[in-house]
Amino acid sequence: MSEPSPMQRDLTLLVKPAGADCPLSCSYCFYRSTGPRGGRMTDDGLRLLISEALSTAQRVNFVWQGGEPALMGRAFYERAVELQQQLAQPGQAVSNALQTSGVGLDSGWTEVLRQGEFLVGLSIDGDQALHEANRGPSWERAIATARWLFEAELPVNALSVVSAGGEHTATARYEALRALGFEHLQFLPVVDPDPDDPGRPGPNSVDPSAWAAFLLELWEVWWPEHRTVSVRNFDELLASYVGSPPVTCTTAERCGGYLVVEHDGGLHRCDFLVEPDRPIARLGDRPLVQVLNSPVQRALGDSKAQLPEDCTTCPWLPRCRGGCPYHRREGGRSHLCEAYRAVFEGLDPTLRELALKVRPARPPRRNEPCPCGSGLRYKRCCATLPGAPPR
Ligand code: SF4
Ligand code: SF4
Repeated sequence: MSEPSPMQRDLTLLVKPAGADCPLSCSYCFYRSTGPRGGRMTDDGLRLLISEALSTAQRVNFVWQGGEPALMGRAFYERAVELQQQLAQPGQAVSNALQTSGVGLDSGWTEVLRQGEFLVGLSIDGDQALHEANRGPSWERAIATARWLFEAELPVNALSVVSAGGEHTATARYEALRALGFEHLQFLPVVDPDPDDPGRPGPNSVDPSAWAAFLLELWEVWWPEHRTVSVRNFDELLASYVGSPPVTCTTAERCGGYLVVEHDGGLHRCDFLVEPDRPIARLGDRPLVQVLNSPVQRALGDSKAQLPEDCTTCPWLPRCRGGCPYHRREGGRSHLCEAYRAVFEGLDPTLRELALKVRPARPPRRNEPCPCGSGLRYKRCCATLPGAPPR
């Protein structure tokens, strides 16, 4: 009999219990054309998913998404939470996130979201006109969901998708989402390949210089509230300056740290690499830890680290890590490279100062790495800034 695999510390699974099915038809949704349609995760599939995940890691994060995961109905998530509670070992940490358009949820979901400690990522692009330009008539339902989530004091993030032509709307989006009461915001640029020429950007992709202008404008409008409002894009920038682990896989050194689970138990490498008929494995075939360490999954991680010379010689490499491999275009650089450079150049001095304010309790010594994450020794880096901790 083979030995059980040792437990990992962390595991994140993106679970798509209803595949690509969704009541909306957002114009920029890539999963509409790549994901599977018409399937639903069964109760046996759900049990297998949860038991496999909980025998893999000490801390397991289930991210329920799609398509629209709320199509599964409330009872599915009540069952998921019940199974998580039944199968978790003492001391094991289980968390849940639900990424939803808000259509299909109502206040009857309050109890299950509370019990499962769900973080809700609500897709809402801004005011009604901005939102419905790409998502169709769904804004009223989305804000109704936001309102009862706020009333129930459940944690909720606004996910605002920015596609081509929307890069001039930073202030309008920020103000609309703040007026609705959101305190946690994330702005997601669309970067997709041209279907006829994958080396070139697709029609929905943001323009890199306009995306840089979006972020710099967003910074200006957010800064007066930076102590109370979280913008994930800026949390991600700051993480590399304070030496924290990356907030998303985009700025990690390697990819391949999570798996996608489709409704039929098919396992896939990444959200952008789901091939419905060609999973890399299936739930229950072998331990998840073996799938995570399989040659095909490791190759994805290696591919992120294989960077063009422009990146390996670039001073911003520790900040962006070359971005997501899915965003790379002709020449190997990210479609967003120009935006990365402009934003880092514009915000670098401020981010270094900010990093010092959230520095570790003990001040760094002269020859230690600077806590701003520059990769330089402290005496050569932020020590020269006003207000730097003593050397
Ligand atoms: S800013 Fe551009 S060139 Fe520099 S590391 Fe990032 S993607 Fe590569
Ligand atoms: S390809 Fe992109 S989205 Fe997929 S794991 Fe890598 S960085 Fe993340």
